[in-house]
Amino acid sequence: MAGGKGTRLRAITDDEIPKPMAPVAGKPILEWQVDCLRRQGITDVIMVIGHLGHKIREHFGNGADFGVSIQYIEETAPLGTAGALSMLPPLLTGDNFFLVFGDVLFDIDLARMEQFHRKKSAIATLFVHPNVHPFDSDLVVCDESGRVEKFDSKHNVRDYWYHNCVNAGFYILDRSVCERVPENTKVDLEKELLSSLIDEGQAVYGYHSPEYIKDVGTVERIQKAENELASGFIGRRCLSQKQRAIFLDRDGTLNRKNGLVYQEEQFELELCAVEAIRKINVSGYLAIVVTNQPVVARGLCEIEDVELIHRKMETLLGREGVYLDDIRFCPHHPDKGYPEENPVYKIPCHCRKPDIGMLEDCAAAYNIDLSRSWMVGDTTVDVQTGKNAGTKTALVLTGDAGTDKKYDVIPELVCKDLLDAVDQILK
Ligand SMILES: [Zn+2]
Repeated sequence: MAGGKGTRLRAITDDEIPKPMAPVAGKPILEWQVDCLRRQGITDVIMVIGHLGHKIREHFGNGADFGVSIQYIEETAPLGTAGALSMLPPLLTGDNFFLVFGDVLFDIDLARMEQFHRKKSAIATLFVHPNVHPFDSDLVVCDESGRVEKFDSKHNVRDYWYHNCVNAGFYILDRSVCERVPENTKVDLEKELLSSLIDEGQAVYGYHSPEYIKDVGTVERIQKAENELASGFIGRRCLSQKQRAIFLDRDGTLNRKNGLVYQEEQFELELCAVEAIRKINVSGYLAIVVTNQPVVARGLCEIEDVELIHRKMETLLGREGVYLDDIRFCPHHPDKGYPEENPVYKIPCHCRKPDIGMLEDCAAAYNIDLSRSWMVGDTTVDVQTGKNAGTKTALVLTGDAGTDKKYDVIPELVCKDLLDAVDQILK
C-alpha cells in the first residue's frame, strides 16, 4: 500500500517523492520492504500507488532489477486503507497474501507468521506487538488464543488496566477478504473491514511477535531507524535468528513482595523496575516474565485475577515507555489437601519453577538460545530454574533475597536489585 501522501515527511520528500520512497540509510522504505520479502522467497509484489506514484514506477519498473515481479494498481482517488483491496483478486495467485503499509520498516520471519495464520485457520492475521506509547495508541484486544475480540481506539477513555498490544500495520489476509470490499469505495481497513469480520465472528487473529516493525513516517523516526539499522538491532530481532532473553521472576524481583500478591491493589512495581526494563528493551535481549502463581491452585483467586494483575503491570510499565515481550505464569501447585483449594490446578505440571516448561515454551515461540540467556529472580527456586534450563542466573537481594534456601545453588551473579542485575548482565 504505497499511496500515502506523507505530509509529516515533507522535510525529506519535499513533496517531490511519495512517502514510501523516503530514504532510510540511503534506500527507499519501499525497497527495504521488497528486499525483506525477496530474501524470504516472496517475489510476487503488487504495489498500490497514488500520489506521485510514477516515481515509484520509475524506481522499481517491473521489479526485475530487484529480484521480484511487480504489478501496479493505480488509485485515481484515495480509497482509504482498504478500498484498493477490491482491485486485487484478478492479480492474486495464492489463497492468501501479505498486506504491508508503505511507511513501515520491518524485518520479520514471514514463514513463522504464515504458519501461525494457517494453524489458526484465520481469515485475517494482524501482526501485533507492544510499543513504547500504548497510552496514546489504538489497541488490539485479543483473547488467550490470540483471537481478536475488538479494537480499542486511542480516543476511548481507558480507565482500566490493559494489555500493551498494538497493531503494527502488517497483515496476512485471505483472498476472500478482498471480495467483501465494494469497488471504488473508500474503506477503512481496521474500523470497517476488519471490525465487520470480527463482529461476524470470523477468525481474525493477532500474531504477537517481538520482531522489529516500526512506522517510520516522521523525520525523527527515520533517524532512529537508521541508528538501529547501523547497529544491527533490526536484523537481530528477526525470529529466524537465535534470540537472547532475560527471564524475570515477578514477585520480589519486578514488583514488591508484600506477602502473596493475588489482588490487583497489592501489585506495586519495585522502584528500579522501569529503568531496568528500559535497558533490556534497547539491549536486544527479550524481557520475559516467568512466574509461579500457586495462588490460583490455593483458591485465593482465579486465573482472571492473575491476568488483571498482569494487565496492571503492563499498563504501569507502558506509561513509562517500557514493555515486556511476554508474560508466562504457572497457576498450578502439586500438594493436594487444603480446604479452599481449586482441584483443577492442584496438579503436578511441567511449568512450575524450578521446572522449565515456561522457559522452553518461550524458547520455541521466539527461537531463544537458552545458553545465551539469563534467569533473574529473588529465590533459589529461580536460580535452580535457570540451572535446569541451561541459562545463566542472577539472584537479586530484593524480595526473599535468596533466604528461601530451597535449593543449594550458586548463581553467576548476586545483585542489589533488578537494575543492578541488568547492568551487570549487559556489561
Ligand atoms: Zn504449572
